[in-house]
Amino acid sequence: MIGIVGGGLAAAKLVEGYREAGGTDEITIWSQDPHGPYHRPPLSKRLLRGEAEPKDALAHPPEWYAEHGVDLKLGDAVSSLDQVQADTVVIATGARPRDLPGMLPLRTLDDALELRRRAETASTAVVVGGGFIGCEVTASLTQLGVQVTQIVREPLVFAPLQAQALSDTLHETYREHGVDLRLEASDIPTGADLTVAGIGVQPNVELAREAGHEVRSGIVVNERFETAKPGVYAIGDVAEFFDPVFGRHRRIEHWSNAAYHGTTLGKILAGEDTRYDIVSSFFSEEFGQSFKLFGDALDHDDTALEGDFREGKAVLRFLRGGGVVCAVTMGQDEDAENALKDEIRAGAAAAA
Ligand code: NAP
Repeated sequence: MIGIVGGGLAAAKLVEGYREAGGTDEITIWSQDPHGPYHRPPLSKRLLRGEAEPKDALAHPPEWYAEHGVDLKLGDAVSSLDQVQADTVVIATGARPRDLPGMLPLRTLDDALELRRRAETASTAVVVGGGFIGCEVTASLTQLGVQVTQIVREPLVFAPLQAQALSDTLHETYREHGVDLRLEASDIPTGADLTVAGIGVQPNVELAREAGHEVRSGIVVNERFETAKPGVYAIGDVAEFFDPVFGRHRRIEHWSNAAYHGTTLGKILAGEDTRYDIVSSFFSEEFGQSFKLFGDALDHDDTALEGDFREGKAVLRFLRGGGVVCAVTMGQDEDAENALKDEIRAGAAAAA
């Protein structure tokens, strides 16, 4: 039996990968969430704006799990890994939002529905945070007709990406849409109808730590998602996994990473000889415009900008020792993106 602790996208993708690769063991998923595994990207975008419904965000319809030999236990929190009687244990416990007292978080499907309900009657909102939730929620609420003040403590949005040209373009777009975007700000205005905090998450590592697993920024696993204890794996937001492309451990809090970890571990558990082997990527969308990031900008020593984010077509390369290790892109086709991934693979190998 395979026991998966955590019912997010990584768990659903693991089942898919495992069954498609011919795996036959029974699977149990324990999930704190009352909803079956769902995609989070719509929560701050189409679902919040009322353009999608909860069923559209589900990874699979409810009956799919039983049809695929899965006992999906919803609203059922595991209090200790000892409780999981399985030959194979997968820790996919994800992360929980840091909160600011009195402000709404946006992490779960129910959080998004509550925010959507409250936005129906709100004229004004304050959104704290200049990362993914802060920027996407600000854009979505503005599109719903709410006057938003966004409070960002850094001098640029998406500060960890260190992409000034992208931040400048987004700032201009936000201003054009009437957002009061305040950079290098810490005072939170009072009196708004709605307040939302998007100030990051912390990985749910407690069960693993109590069970004696190594935890650094997340649960430490190798490129096959194995902890040091045979039969115990960790995937998704909670895993600090070894990325062979960059030759070091990383933890990534994005949909694409959770999906890929799940599918890949599913194949591994079904007996395939595979491991983590992609150039990591993610995307974000604000006011109908998307940008993507490939690779990892950590320790870059130079940047090179091609095109113009303001015109919706740009590639910002991050270089280390002359090689490309990361790129932030807008308006590129698949061929161009694949070529960039090749550049990053080569650049990361040279820099390692
Ligand atoms: P995030 O992207 O890590 O951004 C957190 C933001 O909050 C940063 O701007 C940070 O500033 C700021 N912050 C932290 N503590 C603060 C405080 N006490 N007061 C004011 N600002 C503070 O996290 P998030 O936006 O909350 O998103 C939550 C998670 O969902 C993340 O893992 C994110 O990757 C994921 N997500 C991803 C997507 C996507 O891939 N498109 C979309 C939505 C959510 P500093 O930079 O100064 O720390």
